[in-house]
Amino acid sequence: MQVISLHRNRPLLIRAGAAWDGIMAHPLCRVAVGIVEGRIAFIHPSTGNEEWDRHYWYVVDCPDLALLPGLVDCHVHLALDGVNPPNPEGEPKQEQKVSQLLERLQCYITHGILALRDGGDRYGTGIMARNLAIQNRWDSPAVVATGTAIRRHGRYGSFLGPGVTGREDLPTAIWQAANNGVDQIKVIASGIVDLTRPNRVGSLQFDMAEMETIISLARQQSLPVMVHASGTDAVENCINAGADSLEHGYHITTGGLNKLAAGKTAWVPTLVPVAVQEGYPAVDPAVVADTCNHQMQSVGIAHALGARIAVGTDAGSRGVPHASYYLREMILLNRCGLPPQAVLRAATIEGARVLGLDNHLGTLTPGKVANLIGVAGEPWRDLASLQRIGLVCFLPPAYWQPVPARH
Ligand SMILES: [Zn+2]
Repeated sequence: MQVISLHRNRPLLIRAGAAWDGIMAHPLCRVAVGIVEGRIAFIHPSTGNEEWDRHYWYVVDCPDLALLPGLVDCHVHLALDGVNPPNPEGEPKQEQKVSQLLERLQCYITHGILALRDGGDRYGTGIMARNLAIQNRWDSPAVVATGTAIRRHGRYGSFLGPGVTGREDLPTAIWQAANNGVDQIKVIASGIVDLTRPNRVGSLQFDMAEMETIISLARQQSLPVMVHASGTDAVENCINAGADSLEHGYHITTGGLNKLAAGKTAWVPTLVPVAVQEGYPAVDPAVVADTCNHQMQSVGIAHALGARIAVGTDAGSRGVPHASYYLREMILLNRCGLPPQAVLRAATIEGARVLGLDNHLGTLTPGKVANLIGVAGEPWRDLASLQRIGLVCFLPPAYWQPVPARH
């Protein structure tokens, strides 16, 4: 695999066998992509025989690869390792955190995942990752950070933040998050899906009035809101209150799906973190299977209704390693009934929208950052070709200082 970490000063020309730009229904055959100052200057058909000024262009030929926009993971936890439960001993040492982060971020790059949103942790590790990546010219995806989550003290999610004890604490908690420099507010509206008993989810953390308060306080800070919600009430509150993204959304009802499709909330259904639990002790495999099936049916309906769906893996949570399970999430979305091209959209432009970076990423369009991947095969027909990534080209965040859109 060739990994090209772009510098702003080197004009690059990539000639490839094909490209899917993220917009058009049909891929282009034989293309030349010109990259100047780390951004796409042009993308047009190429016979492969044109003369290019090689003093100006550094030419990369990959006739066997199809180019796509870089992939986006809308839900990861950089603080967690995907194996161990969140560390009860407290905060890891600074040096250990930095080396772990570097390793995890590089792993995303080699899997073609060139932008991600961190779903938060108690110690601000996601914010630290974002800051290190924009300060140090690291080979890193663009990181959108949510910092400590807004949750109810004593309920699920102690690894995500200390939590509030009541409604009166919400203004301070949201002001603090904004003051810590988060890009979006993360809210924990429910517990997690119970995989030992059918149709059970950990308890609701905020009622409808509280959810509306949270969203209006976040709006006052111009911050988008990312809501972890499973179970009928939490999911409906999240959608009705106008959250920007619904995370997980297990046990969503038909009414919820209709509202989702009619509104602006994007859905990040995180299929893989539940699907992988089947092999774990202390879960009921039949409950895991039923939960997955219901979620997959719901995702298929949501897509048919025209809801916005984006790819998020919940990497770092138990059983989900960083980066390497992304393709599994895509394939599960395909099994829900999304055609490969719809899955690719969920993985690129829709993900970029969820991150608030669609002005810069998500399509192969002149003016956008030249974050792209090349795969052997026709991913718009067969997602499995994403196993064969032959090229990753990206502009490290330090060179473009990503600033996610605000409300
Ligand atoms: Zn999560």
